[in-house]
Amino acid sequence: MSDYDPNERRDTPLALKLKAQIERDGPMELGQFIGACLWDEAHGYYATKAVIGRGGDFITAPEISQIFGELLGLWAAVVWGQMGSPSPVNLFEFGPGRGTLMADALRAITRVPGFKDGLAVKLMEASHLLRALQEEGLADVGVPVAWTDRFPASEAVPAIVLANEFLDVYAPSQSIKTEEGWRWRAIGLDDEGRFQFTASRPTRLRPELDTMWPGAPLGSVYETIASHDLAEALKQMAGSDPFAALFIDYGHVESAPGDSLQAVRDHRFEHPLTSPGEADLSIQVDFADVAREMKVAGLAVDGPLTQGEFLGRLGIVERASKLMAANPAKAGEIEAGVARLMAPQGMGGRFKVIGVRSLNLPKLPGF
Ligand code: SAH
Repeated sequence: MSDYDPNERRDTPLALKLKAQIERDGPMELGQFIGACLWDEAHGYYATKAVIGRGGDFITAPEISQIFGELLGLWAAVVWGQMGSPSPVNLFEFGPGRGTLMADALRAITRVPGFKDGLAVKLMEASHLLRALQEEGLADVGVPVAWTDRFPASEAVPAIVLANEFLDVYAPSQSIKTEEGWRWRAIGLDDEGRFQFTASRPTRLRPELDTMWPGAPLGSVYETIASHDLAEALKQMAGSDPFAALFIDYGHVESAPGDSLQAVRDHRFEHPLTSPGEADLSIQVDFADVAREMKVAGLAVDGPLTQGEFLGRLGIVERASKLMAANPAKAGEIEAGVARLMAPQGMGGRFKVIGVRSLNLPKLPGF
């Protein structure tokens, strides 16, 4: 986490609102605080800004190279084949951002005989602003596209899900080890009315973390997204039909205590309490925790692999060479994009990929 200079803090409209709430009710659990920073209807980061891309606050893999979405489209086509080429079939994306990944994926999918015929695209997006961009970008794709703002129920149709950088904002929360045991981490106010980290009321203990991390020193932090809710939602969504999902995100493959809560505003890191509502807040995803919850819910898990390994196995190099040969004027740009996605010290190593599937499917392609 970047250092917190309380004097750098900004009394954004949301900061004022949350301070009033904390003054009235006492410390607010971090999960709720982050939820407000991202989704407050009037001031939340995702609720009020179209944040992704060069002009936004951060740039994602599909915005770096069209090959990313194309490869995921072809991945979905192979999964569809593993499912027995069903028609109809649903292709979901969770958190589609500007809609770029899906547009690229569908362009690749068009070349796969049969897949497009029974295909319905369904996008789960909670931001109205991003949804408007997606509608624009996907206006002419030639398949039906529908939106939902929450996890869908089972439609009794085989389903394939793509999700890039969705997990890292899916209800992150933290816990902290105190004298009384592990408690939820919370945000309170210091003597001068500035935000500060604290712990939830001692009645909100988390004894399961004492079992997980018996030797953790005081002050240790453990963080997760809402993996349990996610696994339950996927289980409901899958029903008894073939189901496969691909999650790509920054994170680590083993669970461990640690504090990775980060804020990004205008392509720069800042301390997460600096400008509530005006920065993206996220954590590194604990893929081991996600995998555990999926298995408890009765789903199988493939991976995690690094993004570099995964895209390598899907043939990114071959695809890039073809594209460069077909567009010599853009060869440099294409090569730079692929290098960025694959860099072992950068996205290629920091991002991990996990596959989740119903037990009636074999190991998913690439794993
Ligand atoms: N996948 C895109 C965008 C990643 S940013 C890309 O790679 O460029 C995260 C996306 O998830 C945004 O579209 C955001 O609005 C959406 N999102 C985050 N939490 C959500 C939730 N709980 N329900 C629906 N959409 C969500």
